[in-house]
Amino acid sequence: MNKGFLLVVSGPSGVGKGTILHDLMNMQKNLVYSVSCTTRKKREGEIEGISYFITTYSEFEKKLDNKEFLEYAKVHNNYYGTPKDFVEQKINEGKIVILEIDVQGAMNVKKNSKDGVYIFVAPPSLDELQRRIKGRGTETEADIDIRMHNAVGELSYIQEYDYLIINDHINSAINDINEIINAEKHKVNRIDYNFN
Ligand code: 5GP
Repeated sequence: MNKGFLLVVSGPSGVGKGTILHDLMNMQKNLVYSVSCTTRKKREGEIEGISYFITTYSEFEKKLDNKEFLEYAKVHNNYYGTPKDFVEQKINEGKIVILEIDVQGAMNVKKNSKDGVYIFVAPPSLDELQRRIKGRGTETEADIDIRMHNAVGELSYIQEYDYLIINDHINSAINDINEIINAEKHKVNRIDYNFN
């Protein structure tokens, strides 16, 4: 069995990570998506247990005390965390586990785990990012301001990542990440090859 690994994908809210990853899941059968826990309210169209596991603040803090997260962060005034057991189980099954997480979480994962691939998805410009968030129509003006402010901070972490994808044209972004995954899958240390 080939080795599983973490595929950590970050980028400002609204940049299109969700759409890109959704399409990639249909292209690569070995990918699994790690569903995070969050205290954020469910958006229209999101499905409990598929988009996120929604918890209260106190439930989240209980999970924190029980060390149930691989990493967690407070983003835009809400908690978000990656359930540890699921990730470990899937890596052991040889899967590529997608963590769609913010830069703080990604840096924590990087500190603690050896085998990960780090991809940053950036918008072509901040103006375009704002247009996309507004176009989504799911955030209040105040939330949009917070997300735009945080976007600038997140972009300053690009150098910490292995790959930069500028999401100008969605299909190119999807193809580029697909090629990265194909290349990473063929790294010698990940392949269980016995020529006897
Ligand atoms: P949104 O509210 O737009 O779904 O997500 C806001 C931000 O939180 C995004 O940058 C998203 O990648 C990040 N995020 C989602 N789940 C997690 C998680 O489990 N851990 C961390 N650190 N960030 C997360």
